[in-house]
Amino acid sequence: MGVGTGVLVIGGGPAGLAAALAARKKGFDVTVADGAKPPIDKACGEGLMPGTVTALRELGVAIGPGDGQAFRGIRFLDAGTSAEASFSGVSGVGVRRTVLHQKMVERAEGCGITLLWNTPVAGLSGDSAILGGTVVKSRWIIGADGIHSRVRRWIGLDGNVRQEMRFAQRRHYRVKAWTDCMEIHWGQKAQAYVTPLSNEETCVALISRDPRMRLEEAWREFPKLAGRLCRAEPRSAERGAVTVSRRLGQVYRG
Ligand SMILES: Cc1cc2nc3c(=O)[nH]c(=O)nc-3n(C[C@H](O)[C@H](O)[C@H](O)COP(=O)(O)OP(=O)(O)OC[C@H]3O[C@@H](n4cnc5c(N)ncnc54)[C@H](O)[C@@H]3O)c2cc1C
Repeated sequence: MGVGTGVLVIGGGPAGLAAALAARKKGFDVTVADGAKPPIDKACGEGLMPGTVTALRELGVAIGPGDGQAFRGIRFLDAGTSAEASFSGVSGVGVRRTVLHQKMVERAEGCGITLLWNTPVAGLSGDSAILGGTVVKSRWIIGADGIHSRVRRWIGLDGNVRQEMRFAQRRHYRVKAWTDCMEIHWGQKAQAYVTPLSNEETCVALISRDPRMRLEEAWREFPKLAGRLCRAEPRSAERGAVTVSRRLGQVYRG
C-alpha cells in the first residue's frame, strides 16, 4: 500500500514534535511516525533552558506554572566550591519529561498533525519511508529518531564520527525544593544534574563514564547532595540511558 504526506517526521520525541510543529506552522501537511506510544519517557535532567521555553511558546506549547518549577539560573558545585549565574530575562523551567511530551502531543493534535504511534520506520527508499507494511511517499523526510539514529545511518552520515559514551540514571525524589537554580554537582567519576520540578519534587540525573554507576552508590561522590536526598522518598524507579557525545565530520546549513 502507498500513501503520501508533505513532511514525514521519523521520531516523535521533543525534537520530532518541535520540527513537526514548525513545519505545520509553515503550512505543510505533516505526519509523525514513532515506534513507541505516549507517555514517552527518557532519562533526562528535565531542565528546560530559557531558549527552549521561548521556542516552545513560539510553537504554541505553553508551559504553565502548574506544569513545572521555574529556575533562575545554573549553579555548579563540587566538594568545596560553587559558581552560579542567573539567566537574563526568561527563566528556565523544570518539568517532567512525560508532562512536556504530553503538552507537545496535545499541541500537535490541535494543529492537525497526523501522529502515528507504535509505528517504527524500517527504512528509506528514494523519496519514501517504510512504515510497517506501508510505503509513505514524502516531499521532505526529517530524521528525529534520537541519539542512536538509524536515519542518520541509512543516509550515510554515520561515517567518520568520533563518539564518547556515557551512562545516565534518572530518578525523582519527594523533597522540599531547596534551590532556585538547576544544579550540576561535579564529582570525581560522575556529574549529577538536579532540577526542581515543584515545591516538593526534584529530578536527579546522574551521568558517568562508568556503566556500573548507580544513583544510590554515587552519593559518596556528592556529600552535599547525599545530605539532602539519601533519606528522601523516591517517586519513580531509576531509569537508565546510554548517551554519546558525537563530533561530526561536517554540519550542513541552509
Ligand atoms: C542524562 C541526561 C540529561 C539531560 N538533561 C537535559 C536537560 O536537563 N535539558 C535538556 O534540554 N536536555 C537534556 N538532555 C538532552 C535531551 O534528553 C535530548 O536532547 C532529547 O531527549 C533529544 O530529543 P529527541 O527528540 O532528539 O530524541 P528522543 O527523545 O530520544 O526521541 C526519539 C524518538 O524517536 C523514536 N524512534 C527511534 N527510532 C525510530 C524509528 N526507526 N522509527 C520510528 N520512531 C523511532 C523513539 O521512539 C523516540 O520517541 C539530557 C540528556 C541526558 C542523557
